[in-house]
Amino acid sequence: MSNPPALVIAPPALHTLPVRGTTQRFPVNRIFCVGRNYADHAREMGHDPSREPPFFFMKPASTIVADGGDFPYPTLSSDVHHEVELVVALSRGGRDIDAAAALVHVYGYAVGLDMTRRDLQAEAKKMGRPWDTGKAFDASAPCGEVVPAAAIGHPTSGAVVLEIDGQVKQRGDLSQLIWNVPETIAYLSTLFTLEPGDLIFSGTPAGVGPVRRGQTLVGRVAGVGELRTRVV
Ligand code: MN
Repeated sequence: MSNPPALVIAPPALHTLPVRGTTQRFPVNRIFCVGRNYADHAREMGHDPSREPPFFFMKPASTIVADGGDFPYPTLSSDVHHEVELVVALSRGGRDIDAAAALVHVYGYAVGLDMTRRDLQAEAKKMGRPWDTGKAFDASAPCGEVVPAAAIGHPTSGAVVLEIDGQVKQRGDLSQLIWNVPETIAYLSTLFTLEPGDLIFSGTPAGVGPVRRGQTLVGRVAGVGELRTRVV
């Protein structure tokens, strides 16, 4: 390999996640998020959950909160919601990936929170504007450790739960995903050339709601693990 180029400013930080069973870390590239991938959540947001093609939005890698760090309540919102999700971490990229072969692209899984400024998202929807200010703000993607598929396989069922201060707010099951993980990877890879390090937040079950400073959020996906963060 040739020498790395001289840079006029320091390179931006690499954002990484811990990996269970090793001190090595998972480097985060892009974060894709699936919208309305559980029927009961689509209904609570006022949409028909019939099986339309999936849709996606993105967050930059810099929005990751790793290692159980705090979630700082963002500016310019008074209605910040939790969305607990199974996160898929890709080890291999590609385009037009066949669903039947999609899982070989998966390094592992994690529990993530797609934190949302619901008021700004609602305003954006109303105005026909992009969702970035509602979805891609600083620290909007708390994420737990990555658990290698080599250790746990590829979960297709299991509870997806979010608790606030010990009280269950969201409860769903991976088996309820409208577009399952291989189908999501296949569809996404027709829109974007996927790359190693990409994360996919797979969507949230019903029960989304507001968080407040001082609360502790605990997300769990059965067979994958747990994520804990404090709202500050
Ligand atoms: Mn979401």
